Amino acid sequence: MSLVVVGSIAFDSVKTPFGERKRMLGGSAVHFSLAASFFTEVRVVGPVGDDFGDDEYEVLTKRGVNTDEIEHVEGGKTFFWSGNYHYDLNTAYTNETELGVFGDFDPKLSDDTKSAEFLFLANIHPALQLKVREMCVDAAFTGLDSMNLWIDGEREALEKVIGTVDLVFLNDAEIRMFAREPNLVRAARSVMKMGPGVVVAKQGEYGASLFVGDRFFALPAFPLETVQDPTGAGDSFAGGFLGYMASLGAEALSDQAQLRRAMTYGSVLASFNVEEFGTERVARLTREEIDARYSELRRMTALAELPGD
Ligand code: AMP
Repeated sequence: MSLVVVGSIAFDSVKTPFGERKRMLGGSAVHFSLAASFFTEVRVVGPVGDDFGDDEYEVLTKRGVNTDEIEHVEGGKTFFWSGNYHYDLNTAYTNETELGVFGDFDPKLSDDTKSAEFLFLANIHPALQLKVREMCVDAAFTGLDSMNLWIDGEREALEKVIGTVDLVFLNDAEIRMFAREPNLVRAARSVMKMGPGVVVAKQGEYGASLFVGDRFFALPAFPLETVQDPTGAGDSFAGGFLGYMASLGAEALSDQAQLRRAMTYGSVLASFNVEEFGTERVARLTREEIDARYSELRRMTALAELPGD
């Protein structure tokens, strides 16, 4: 089942207490597609500039990601983000954001891309997310991610696009901020009232919570001893989650058990992503490693199997 993602394709400069990288490949759509590529065919939509070369394309194509809809803007510069983290790796501090070619990007999608069944609007300006959403009229299921920058500065556009999607992935602070409601459960329910039937609250090293209808499911993060760079964890989570759901097809979307498995794959992909900087770890990951960690996480959290219950 094909899965299309629009979002940032970027160069990131990142500093954490455990190291630093300058201008490494990043971006919400890149982290998402690499994670989702282990489950289904992924097409990535977005512009890049002259500074985006063969090495960057190769990271994506090596994982089988379809790059036909990456538009090279002659004379342009690729989106750039620089940020840092302190010992609390759950909070990213942005130093600089340069939109570059995203400034006036006008997506022109092929008919194949427009007819995708699964769509992910990764973090980028909400007006651009809406434009792509409106072009993909056949999408049976659309997910969306965003961030404080757009909640703060582009609330109206964000509300509009959120009204058109089925699933919202946001971290817990962003859900509270967007809903203007300090209680996470009430905040998630108020986002659901705007349209999306599913809300996933990402909670960094503490895991993630799934709200669907009146059901709730929470999963801890995989307990890692080494975390170097959390950049892209949220996108990798979304990629694992939606990649898995897309591999099953639209019928699985009402299946609670499958949504819980998707949460587990999301958590596993996010855990690999943070072990090293940028895309380094996921670029050389294998499906066998994913499945081994998936089984381990399931074993760790099998509360229902406790003897005597
Ligand atoms: P996350 O999963 O939230 O850690 O996403 C990290 C990625 O988001 C980085 O690779 C950045 O390139 C990208 N990013 C940071 N700020 C923005 C923004 N304003 N719009 C789109 N993408 C961004």
